[in-house]
Amino acid sequence: MVTLAERLPVYLDHHATTPCDARVVEAMVPHLAGTFGNAASRSHAYGWAADAAVEQARDRVAALIGCTPKEIVFTSGATEADNLALFGVAALAGERGRHLVSVATEHKAVLEPLEALRRRGFEVTLLPVPPDGVVRVADVEAALRPDTVLLTVMAANNEIGVLAPLGALGALCKARGVLFHTDAAQAAGHIPLDVEALGIDLLSLSAHKMYGPKGIGALYVRRRRPMVRLEPQMLGGGHERGRRAGTPPVHQIVGFGVAAEIARTEGAAEASRLRGLRDRLLAALRAGLPDLRVNGSLDARLPHNLNVSFPGVEGEALLMALRAFALSSGAACTSATLEPSHVLRALGVPSDLAHASLRFGLGRRNTEADVDAVAVATIAAVRRLRALRSGAPAPETSAPAAAS
Ligand SMILES: *Cc1c(COP(=O)(O)O)cnc(C)c1O
Repeated sequence: MVTLAERLPVYLDHHATTPCDARVVEAMVPHLAGTFGNAASRSHAYGWAADAAVEQARDRVAALIGCTPKEIVFTSGATEADNLALFGVAALAGERGRHLVSVATEHKAVLEPLEALRRRGFEVTLLPVPPDGVVRVADVEAALRPDTVLLTVMAANNEIGVLAPLGALGALCKARGVLFHTDAAQAAGHIPLDVEALGIDLLSLSAHKMYGPKGIGALYVRRRRPMVRLEPQMLGGGHERGRRAGTPPVHQIVGFGVAAEIARTEGAAEASRLRGLRDRLLAALRAGLPDLRVNGSLDARLPHNLNVSFPGVEGEALLMALRAFALSSGAACTSATLEPSHVLRALGVPSDLAHASLRFGLGRRNTEADVDAVAVATIAAVRRLRALRSGAPAPETSAPAAAS
């Protein structure tokens, strides 16, 4: 009998979301029906048990990024954390200024709140990036003004995996008295992050990008040097020290905590395994398709990301040909539209090459066999599509010798 799992494609789309680790699921289940209490109930054991579970998870999430538990505000995910950081800081900026600085390659969860703030009278500077996608510290420095209240730059890009120079940006912001927010949804759990060493004041997290459940995330809000003040965006009960009202979803938070603990203890070893797989995939693809173009810096990059353009093919046609694999072309979030991704456009990738891009996002369950298989299939599909285009007979589609 063919099971559902056997019919599903090989998952290579870990920037869109990740599966829950089995240990995460196991830890969550008891909190759904057994110890199901409301963590805010102070008068009985159900509430105490829920509260203890939430606080243990808070400790674990804090440990992942080097902050104290009181600095963690649980939210419904990174989108809400980004909204809370931007609207929350802007609402209290007052006399200090009405200028915000960010980068063109940010996630929509940052770009759209910034656009909303612009409509409310704030001034927003969106910096361009060079072709490698790494924002230049000198450009940021030149953009900061006496009335700048906040810089927001994502830690790792969700499409091209490119990393920001967080430490240099944090130091710059400290020197200028500007708050520094980073959306670390793609970075946390995958590369080391220490908010003290990096000088970060606000940081957004998402559990489902690091093998935890969907619908839960957090905003780190610095409490010392400086103490960051935020206007809550969700009112109605004073949860999370008054910073985010709403009954804490205990099972989600517990799952997030376990995912954070696993990432903290196993993340480095897994990252080096995935870097090996990613490099193997790139070498195999290059051997068969020497004219491919890697989008974004290969050095300043998440270890499990590869984003490549194949000249002369359509990303959509390529995805159809690669149905045995779960991949995405352009931006996952906007791939319903046929607009080329705003990130690739910001890098200056021409429209035809942006349309010819694939994003490979490797993860915990992927093996050498998976990357070898997707390399063989991609090479064959690209050659076939190019042959169809040129009207020539399809070339031999056998794979090159596996690269190591
Ligand atoms: C996935 C993602 C988000 C949104 O996170 P949710 O938890 O799904 O709301 C925000 N920013 C980046 C960079 C992401 O990759």
